[in-house]
Amino acid sequence: MTSLRGTGVSPGVAVGRALVVEHETGPVFRLSLTPDGREAEVLRLEQALAASAAQLEAIKERLSREVGAKHAYIFDAHLLMLRDPLLRDRAVEEVRQESVNAEWALRTVSESLHTLFSQFSDAYLRERSTDLDDVIGRVQLNLRGSPGAPSLARLPEPVVLVAGDLRPSEAAELDWDRVLAIVTDVGSSTYHTAIIARSLGIPAVAGLKDATRRIAPGALVAVDGVRGEVVVDPSPEALATLRAAQEQHRREDERLRGTRGLLACTPDGVAVRLEANVEFPEEAATAQLYGAQGIGLFRSEYLLGRGLRFPTEEQQLDVYHRLLEQMHPFPVTVRTWDVGGEALGPGPSSPNPALGERALRLLRRSAEPFRVQLRALLRAGAHGPIRIMFPFVSGVSDLRVALGLVEQVKAELRAEGTPFRDDVPVGINIEVPSAAVVADLLAAEVDFFSVGTNDLIQYLLAVDRTNPRVSSLYEPLHPAVLRTLAGIARAAEASGRSLSVCGEMAGQPLQAVLLVGLGFRELSMAPSAIPRVKEALRAVPAAEAQALAARCLELSSGPEIEALVRDSLPEVVAPGG
Ligand code: PEP
Ligand code: MG
Repeated sequence: MTSLRGTGVSPGVAVGRALVVEHETGPVFRLSLTPDGREAEVLRLEQALAASAAQLEAIKERLSREVGAKHAYIFDAHLLMLRDPLLRDRAVEEVRQESVNAEWALRTVSESLHTLFSQFSDAYLRERSTDLDDVIGRVQLNLRGSPGAPSLARLPEPVVLVAGDLRPSEAAELDWDRVLAIVTDVGSSTYHTAIIARSLGIPAVAGLKDATRRIAPGALVAVDGVRGEVVVDPSPEALATLRAAQEQHRREDERLRGTRGLLACTPDGVAVRLEANVEFPEEAATAQLYGAQGIGLFRSEYLLGRGLRFPTEEQQLDVYHRLLEQMHPFPVTVRTWDVGGEALGPGPSSPNPALGERALRLLRRSAEPFRVQLRALLRAGAHGPIRIMFPFVSGVSDLRVALGLVEQVKAELRAEGTPFRDDVPVGINIEVPSAAVVADLLAAEVDFFSVGTNDLIQYLLAVDRTNPRVSSLYEPLHPAVLRTLAGIARAAEASGRSLSVCGEMAGQPLQAVLLVGLGFRELSMAPSAIPRVKEALRAVPAAEAQALAARCLELSSGPEIEALVRDSLPEVVAPGG
């Protein structure tokens, strides 16, 4: 039995067999083969190698024809590598001896070849490492397309998913019904996969650093998403303890769902609207189960899936329409495509994707996906209270480009005679520090603000929200964060704009109380977080929360603020305080 420690990012307990996934050119699975599956796997590997060789020959020939033979020599080197027994025979041997799938065998061989290359004193030879990646990447791609290739969309059985980094684009197409729990090397609680796991009520532990190395495929794994613990090959006693925790979690969840009919109102009569954040349309049902008064954030980019194909206008209209129907009479806020960056995408597009061409910034390259989405949203407005939200706005200039597109789309719809709602509220996610600084200017242009604290904290404190090595520096109660939130609240109040928080802070009872103290009256969170936040708000008068927030704003560090809040709030809000 081995115990690994990470951060519990989605509560609950689960026990199951591990499915290990890693990335190279895409997800690389590590699967155990049965003895009679080995030869079929060797065949699959050989076919992928042959397909890769044929492709390289074709490229070489075309290059020789079009630009001359001397430029084609590089592909001779690639072909030699591909046919080298160091690669080919060792990969086959790996499949046969270790009973692993072809993808994993290739990965293992590639690692040992990289080590070998790095030891060469000759710089030219050392640099062949990049060629090796190229060659291996091609074979991996060919394997992926081959019959029998494993896929996240078709999991063979219920599994505990063990991944280095489960990209949101993969999460979007995952066969969620068969995922018992998620365990990742990277990430912390605002990591996208953690957010989805919470939304779907799947236990998860993130930031384990080397779980993919330490958990063998097929091993029995017990995951405790509350304590952040992953036990490999648990003893019968450990299993019994975990099962008891599982049962307790189930009972507590049942009790919490029972609060769905209660009002989210402080003892001194201040009503707070509690909404749900969802990634998949099916989650609207869960949102209702937990008593959500609307969808405060629909992360629409999850409609794209791994192929990164934008759905058509009609497909989107259907999704938005169904969301409105299900949430009736409550509003549904749809965030426009937040692609690029860490949020979704084929992989890092630059060394610094979080600061790169993300979300609205893509509009400068192609307006089409946004135009189609706005058409669908404005048309959906004719069926119910939909709201449009632009993410990643950094100031008035980029906002105006987006607002200009809204007007252009309305004119288009009007000219065609297509029914739509003219006064669909348009708002923004405040999640870039510059937007927070100029919140007063932005307020003049939009109908509402929703603060995306996940990104806001990341950018304000310069702490990567996915990197477990710096997760202790990710401080929601840092004075800079509280001052920034207070400033945004003032700007919204002065202009009479509606104001909410849709980052993970909203779903933490203690932080939610502080947000109310700072003037926020709408909070949007994972559906299952709603009951606990409601309990907390019902226990603390808004006037007290306000006085507490004012005192916090005078303190100079996160730990001091946290200590004061814990001391001041009742047990139900700050357990152990
Ligand atoms: C945020 O940044 O707080 C937010 C709600 O959006 P996301 O987590 O999808 O970046
Ligand atoms: Mg964000």
